Amino acid sequence: MSRSNKRHLYNQIFERVTIAGVAAEGKAIARHNDMVIFVNYGAPGDVVDIQIKKTRRRHMEGEIIKFHEKSSQRTEPFCEHFGICGGCKWQHLGYEEQLKYKQKQVTDSIERIGKVDYDFELSPILASENTRYYRNKLEYTFASRRWLMPEEIAGGEEITNHEALGFHIPGFFDKVLSIDKCWLQPEPSNAIRLEVKDFALKQDISFYDFKTKEGQLKNIIIRNNAKGQFMVIVVLASGDDEKRQLLMEFLRDRFPEIVSLHYMINDKANSSIGDLEAVHFSGTPYIMEEMEGLQFKIGPKSFYQTNSQQAYGLYKVARSFADLKGDEIVYDLYTGTGTIANFVAAKARKVIGVEYVEEAVKHARENATLNGLTNLAFAAGDMAKVLTEDFLEQHGQPDVIITDPPRAGMHPDVTARIAESGTRKIVYVSCNPATQARDIELLAKNYKVTKVQAVDMFPHTQHVESVVLLERI
Ligand code: SAH
Repeated sequence: MSRSNKRHLYNQIFERVTIAGVAAEGKAIARHNDMVIFVNYGAPGDVVDIQIKKTRRRHMEGEIIKFHEKSSQRTEPFCEHFGICGGCKWQHLGYEEQLKYKQKQVTDSIERIGKVDYDFELSPILASENTRYYRNKLEYTFASRRWLMPEEIAGGEEITNHEALGFHIPGFFDKVLSIDKCWLQPEPSNAIRLEVKDFALKQDISFYDFKTKEGQLKNIIIRNNAKGQFMVIVVLASGDDEKRQLLMEFLRDRFPEIVSLHYMINDKANSSIGDLEAVHFSGTPYIMEEMEGLQFKIGPKSFYQTNSQQAYGLYKVARSFADLKGDEIVYDLYTGTGTIANFVAAKARKVIGVEYVEEAVKHARENATLNGLTNLAFAAGDMAKVLTEDFLEQHGQPDVIITDPPRAGMHPDVTARIAESGTRKIVYVSCNPATQARDIELLAKNYKVTKVQAVDMFPHTQHVESVVLLERI
């Protein structure tokens, strides 16, 4: 059925449909009369009534409006904001079930998209040690008009507290849900958010209005390390300097856990901070994270894997797949602040890290110095431009390439260069199994998948990391 002749299905209700499986973006999938319907918050095995909300060419999107039977794969979501916040879309699935679907996502991608035969060594997915309070970074948004819950609107009472400090409703850049308790980051993360909101309201510091584009307070970023030390970055529009000072002093004095305090002035319409300058307000300019005795500096804008404990697990898988003997030249592509490069350096002759964010490369070099590692070198620039034949000649032909690209995967020129590099092994670390599988197919002429391990970094979400070892044929 084409899209146009499906339009009449809008708002129609299909009764007693069985949820068949999980699909992309954490949605569940159901089939009805040869039609594919995606819904949020369904569990395979549920029998439900679905109301159609969007008709697309190949599929439809719907909402579950009634449960007839609840799947045995379900568990009671523990967060009061579940279902609206969108942050932990899979809280209604048991953790074991989540892991099963993540593992399947990885193997399905490799087999279907990567067109790889199933003859690799598959280790069971590495479960997250912590399934709550596992994140070391959260970003909250201030809004002058919070998202109202249906029951508040239906209740008919006058609503006075309009301000929000919380998360964007998925799909709406201008709608913010005020959060009372989030289960993702250890305390005092919740206390900081709640008290900042309270203080700002009492002091009459204005919250950003997405319609009029006025208001001073925009975002607050809270980061922490394993030692329980916190870094806070307040992002504000330029405006009342005295009020900003008051808020910063409040944070400094109220929370001894905040060892590194900053603010940023953002007068742009978007909330990206990459192009903003962090103004150091108090404490140390950085916080430090530690892994196997290695030190990593985390600045206000530095990338660091958001689940530190699982990052350690992920790096151990990558290092074990690389199986270094000590005489290898290793390339660590998309090195960020050089974490993997530092992590494998003791077992390699030399490690070359490549990364396009200059500041990250600066931190990567600092990290290497801090760790007393002298066999590391870093280059800054776009991978497709940096990784030339000349570059390989200059730094030495790689024995092992570790690559950890962003969600989009590698540029085809980069994949081609790697395929031709003659490297014995490629350890491909990915946060997006679909693009990883696409790249694996491009490498298939010269490389064979021999080991696969999924790692769960983000419990209660559909996200999964996939580590694949490719060996030269
Ligand atoms: N391996 C690191 C970071 C991985 S995130 C770690 O584990 O911490 C991916 C990194 O790729 C980011 O640091 C991003 O800045 C970098 N990146 C994205 N596109 C790039 C490109 N075209 N060229 C070089 N680096 C890129």
